Amino acid sequence: MFGGIEAGGTKFVCGIGTGPDDLHVAQFPTTVPELTIPKVIAFFKEEATDGFDALGIGSFGPVDLDPNSPSFGHITSTPKPGWQNYYLAGVLGGALGVPVGFDTDVNAALLAEARWGAARGLPDFVYLTIGTGVGGGAMVNGKLVHGLVHTEMGHLRIPHDLARDPYPGLCPYHGDCLEGLACGPAMQARWGVPGIELPPAHPAWALEAEYLALAVLNLTMTLSPRRILLGGGVMQQPRLFGLMREEFARLLNGYIQHRELSDHLDKYLMPPQLGGRSGVLGALILGEQALAGSARQAQLRVKSV
Ligand code: ADP
Ligand code: ZN
Repeated sequence: MFGGIEAGGTKFVCGIGTGPDDLHVAQFPTTVPELTIPKVIAFFKEEATDGFDALGIGSFGPVDLDPNSPSFGHITSTPKPGWQNYYLAGVLGGALGVPVGFDTDVNAALLAEARWGAARGLPDFVYLTIGTGVGGGAMVNGKLVHGLVHTEMGHLRIPHDLARDPYPGLCPYHGDCLEGLACGPAMQARWGVPGIELPPAHPAWALEAEYLALAVLNLTMTLSPRRILLGGGVMQQPRLFGLMREEFARLLNGYIQHRELSDHLDKYLMPPQLGGRSGVLGALILGEQALAGSARQAQLRVKSV
């Protein structure tokens, strides 16, 4: 049995279980740690009456995922008041007394899609979410890409034609990076209404589709994924996938010859399947991995004695 937490900028989704069939969830608003964290701890203490073996946390970031770093397990430079340099993994692991797996919210969702969702059986795929921000992760050879820190696909630089789209973008670091141009709040700032209120025929969707097509083209060229999943609020516009696939095919211009990119574009670029539960489900997998890791470490200690 595992505990999982999707720690988001607006809410913490907490769950206990082993997968989609037995998941028991509750959610708490993300205010300040002094208010949110005690509720999370109480949930696990009260609801997991038979205890659980490990906890996984998929967190909003940036987060420090380097086990050798002094700030490992912390949320680092977030603008969210109270959460800067907050030791999320340590505080919760300490209070609940179990091993903790820690990763980004996006990587957690990606793991869940790999096991139970739209990327089952795929060793190489990309997961993007286009919502309040833009985030993305990658599985390569069956392993999550971490590297130096973690992927930041939301901040890809893409061509921006200022004559066609004078909106300067809203990323505080880069202005017109992918997130700066294409996240939900950027759509709202550019057009004056939230994305959900823009009618399907509005030119906003063709422009959005172009930006997303440029991003998935770059990811296709860099990582050679077998599939790219795109989720998040903005992708709920039904026309967007079709427009994006058309633009992707136009930009690719036949350069990579593979039937997945010619005959099956509707599967190559597709939505995730687990919806709002993907983050907390993936967090269960992070817990499972933490338990396996602590068992391995214990074995190593025994061997070395
Ligand atoms: P978050 O990223 O905070 O987890 P979401 O993925 O739901 O949340 O993304 C929220 C963003 O998506 C908001 O900017 C909202 O305006 C936009 N959005 C939500 N629903 C739609 C929709 N049906 N069409 C277009 N944009 C939408
Ligand atoms: Zn940026």
